[in-house]
Amino acid sequence: VHEPLDSDPMGIYTRLSAAETDGWKRARVFVEKDVAPVIADYWEQAQYPLHLVRKMGDLDLLRDGVTVAGAPEVSRVAAGLVSMELARGDGSMATVVAVQGGLAMRSIELHGSSEQKERYLPKMASGDLLGAFALTEPTHGSDSVRLESKAVPTDGGWLVSGQKKWIGNGSSGGVTVVWARSVVDEKVKGFVVPQESPGYYAKTMEGKTALRAIHQAHIRLEEVFVPDSAVLPGAQSFRDTSTVLFTTRVGVAWAALGQATACYEAAVHYAQQRYQFGRPLAGSQVVQERLARMTAELAQAQLLVLQAARGEDAGTLSGAQASLAKFTATRAARSIAQNARDLLGGNGILLKHLVARHFSDIEALHTYEGTETIQALIIGRHLTGSSAF
Ligand code: FAD
Repeated sequence: VHEPLDSDPMGIYTRLSAAETDGWKRARVFVEKDVAPVIADYWEQAQYPLHLVRKMGDLDLLRDGVTVAGAPEVSRVAAGLVSMELARGDGSMATVVAVQGGLAMRSIELHGSSEQKERYLPKMASGDLLGAFALTEPTHGSDSVRLESKAVPTDGGWLVSGQKKWIGNGSSGGVTVVWARSVVDEKVKGFVVPQESPGYYAKTMEGKTALRAIHQAHIRLEEVFVPDSAVLPGAQSFRDTSTVLFTTRVGVAWAALGQATACYEAAVHYAQQRYQFGRPLAGSQVVQERLARMTAELAQAQLLVLQAARGEDAGTLSGAQASLAKFTATRAARSIAQNARDLLGGNGILLKHLVARHFSDIEALHTYEGTETIQALIIGRHLTGSSAF
């Protein structure tokens, strides 16, 4: 029977250091023991398993490598492998880390004051405080650079107003890093807003067909008072907001690898077990050719994403390379999931056979943190020197 750890066609993961695989191993035990047995039910019922988020905090899996006082440094490769493994278990669980660590904590790490870092990061790393990152608006997704939420200066702080859509953890009772445009200089700034603040109204979004085991919120901000002490001093324009997104882009590529791996493993296993016309599907030349193609797509994406993360660790990764990693990995994941779904026949649409859940979730990965098309446009701008968006 196929072993999940064999899903490494070129043996690239055999060369990782112990420091790089330490979190991955913890994540694997967590996924097998805590996530796999229950997650399909949470997904089906669209419920957010907060006890699993807390457990990820206990296991130090939540911070996506963000530096927190007293905790060990985690490389981008090590953090990526954790995202990959969590996603192999479930896309929503990897998204929790992308939102909590990758977006909310990283905004504070990159742009917060030392007082803000001390105040928020340890509690967020442990999962005692949930964090959200509110950039997207109902009328500004791919062009979030044109966001319309407003920040008006007042005595001792700012009044923030506007609407945000798709905000993971936005209705969780924690804090939201809200990106809004100052009316003083028209520049985008970051505000750390406790969700119990007067004027902060969040409604959990319903009816999603992907990532059903994490909640996103539609948020309305009506003159929410944010004291000066909760404004991120390092975030002076949208360029600073983008530095946060740049890192999470490769994180999403890792998550796509994880979901692709789960689909690939399920397809190989199923092809070996399922008999039609008196022999296993795996005995058919057509099926073997398809599995070979899936293996090739997986291996290519694995190599590219690992190299991107090595570039991040070395400080050499460019924006276009980060986009190339996300573009390639989510495309591979979509293709592998589609093939796996087909190879499972009717069972491919049953939640208990696992592929259907990943198949749906991958559609969200394909779109968030910059859609596939937007990544292509970033790559195209780099290649041609001409911006088409
Ligand atoms: P649009 O921008 O309206 O795009 C629609 C289509 O048009 C896409 O195919 C796109 O590629 C294409 N398109 C857009 N512009 C061009 C162009 N110039 N040329 C060609 N084609 C173009 N945001 C947050 O701030 N915080 C979160 O926590 C968060 N979590 C999310 C979780 C989920 C599950 C999802 C689905 C989204 C989340 N988002 C979050 C928002 C996400 O980043 C946006 O959905 C994404 O950026 C795309 O924006 P949009 O949905 O408005 O699509």
